[in-house]
Amino acid sequence: MNLLGLDQSELMELAVSLGEKPFRGKQLYQQIYARKILNVQQMTDLPLSLRARLSADYILETLQVEQRRASIDGTVKFLFRLQDGQFIETVHIPEERRDTLCISSQVGCDVGCTFCLTAHMGFKRNLKPGEIVGQVLHCILEGLVPESGFNIVFMGMGEPLYNYKNVMKAFRLLTDQQGMDLSHRKITLSTSGVVPVLRKMNAEPQLPNLAISLNATTDQVRNRVMPINRKWPLATLLQACRDFPLDARRRITFEYVLLAGETDSDHDAHRLAHLLKGIPSKVNLIPYNPNPGLPHRRPSDGRVERFREILAANHSLAAFVRRTRGDDISAACGQLAHLTNNGTSGLTTDN
Ligand code: SF4
Repeated sequence: MNLLGLDQSELMELAVSLGEKPFRGKQLYQQIYARKILNVQQMTDLPLSLRARLSADYILETLQVEQRRASIDGTVKFLFRLQDGQFIETVHIPEERRDTLCISSQVGCDVGCTFCLTAHMGFKRNLKPGEIVGQVLHCILEGLVPESGFNIVFMGMGEPLYNYKNVMKAFRLLTDQQGMDLSHRKITLSTSGVVPVLRKMNAEPQLPNLAISLNATTDQVRNRVMPINRKWPLATLLQACRDFPLDARRRITFEYVLLAGETDSDHDAHRLAHLLKGIPSKVNLIPYNPNPGLPHRRPSDGRVERFREILAANHSLAAFVRRTRGDDISAACGQLAHLTNNGTSGLTTDN
């Protein structure tokens, strides 16, 4: 069993089951998550006998790096191998103001968005809390990000709300003040629109920021590019967004992939602004990054700018164009794992 992913009460129970006092579990928790020590022998506040038991019967590790690719623009992408031989991806994106880690929540995904390579892998399994936290811990221990003050976005492989229990446990481990103590305001969960779970989130005592992967302005188009829309169409999804409890001055981020000739018209821009009326929102425009085998095209820079202008000038919507990062290292979601799972992983690595 991997100790990474167990919370404080579980580690206290473990300590008791090993014949120790509960506070030993608390010490273990602080060593792992606050001090980020992953070698039990270095936890010198624990008795030697307990360290010996833990070393013999448990493991404590993040994830195994299968590939590490660094882009000329500074982006670093990891392909991690999990204990069962599956692969997931994590991307570190250095930015002027604050770095961002883009992490995965599932191995593969069954939502089936037509613009996404991860969808082509299908769904393999949910990540465990320790595998989610492990992606962040690895990047901290490698020195890519400091111990706090960076963004985390659940925008890697998988639909986080289809792995809600484990994602929220990981969120609590990341933000617990006695442990990793990361700010919940710097963690964003992105969903394709699993409305019943989105509504369930309303009851959480503490929430991450919310991003909605919207990508179309009519049900007809969204049904085609994001089949999940057939279950929870735009009106249902946007009503759930209106009902989502937002802290003062917080906004929901709407991600919008611009697909040439499909979702990038002036009409789409006006419709998008209309759809978001009454929701404190900002829009991230993502010009589609073409992939062989996927049926979409990238719009021209002029079209992207025109779309942004309509949102900003005509409708006073905060709209930003997301720069493409890490093109030279297949940094887009699912590219590396897709290649690896399809047996074409003769890729060069730099680790
Ligand atoms: S975009 Fe996200 S939700 Fe859609 S298939 Fe890809 S990983 Fe799944």
